[in-house]
Amino acid sequence: MRLVFLGPPGAGKGTQAKLLAKEEGLVHLSTGDLLRTAIARGTPTGLKAKSFMDAGGLVPDEVVDVLIEERLREPDARAGFILDGYPRTLAQATALARMLAAARTPLTRVVLIEVQDERLVARSSGRRSCASCGAIYHVSSKPPRREGVCDGCGGRLDQRADDREEVLRERLRVYREKTAPLVAHYGAQGLLARVNGDLPIGDVTRAVRLASRGAAA
Ligand code: AMP
Repeated sequence: MRLVFLGPPGAGKGTQAKLLAKEEGLVHLSTGDLLRTAIARGTPTGLKAKSFMDAGGLVPDEVVDVLIEERLREPDARAGFILDGYPRTLAQATALARMLAAARTPLTRVVLIEVQDERLVARSSGRRSCASCGAIYHVSSKPPRREGVCDGCGGRLDQRADDREEVLRERLRVYREKTAPLVAHYGAQGLLARVNGDLPIGDVTRAVRLASRGAAA
């Protein structure tokens, strides 16, 4: 399986990608996570990306294209992958198609997780993630056993700076303008499968599993 998970911020792409990657033995590649790691390490990529991310905008295409191209070359990606949060523009989709064509490993499916706007804001503003292991929680729908502490590793739970409401609204605007055109793009290639992300999380997981295997969700 070589998958792209598409959908607005807060749709549950990361949560679902982690689950399916574990189940199917796929590599989960999140450009957001790669960029946050680069920022934490103070690398040149991180320095370039930070101001765009803090403002809720997109990091320039050439920066994320290089990150993904390097990561896809690593041997573990040969077994299959889920791209979460990439591509986010038509130019990135073109760059990805070029990389995958060169390796003769085209995408097998693009899974679109759709969620109504009002829910996205509620979901993202309650999202917390572990500073040590990256596990994702939600203050109301998936609270940790102890407030602020990761159940898995005991790490500290933080709110991402770009999950604050005003930044989130900008991220949604950018999604509609720059990323939503990918729906028609992949639809025309016969790769798109739609999943209703408003359903309870277990139902979404089942629908994502079916959609990723190629069956209609
Ligand atoms: P995410 O964790 O996927 O929500 O990404 C967080 C932020 O990282 C986004 O709001 C963008 O600023 C940046 N980012 C992540 N992936 C991309 C991408 N493919 N293209 C441009 N910017 C990205």
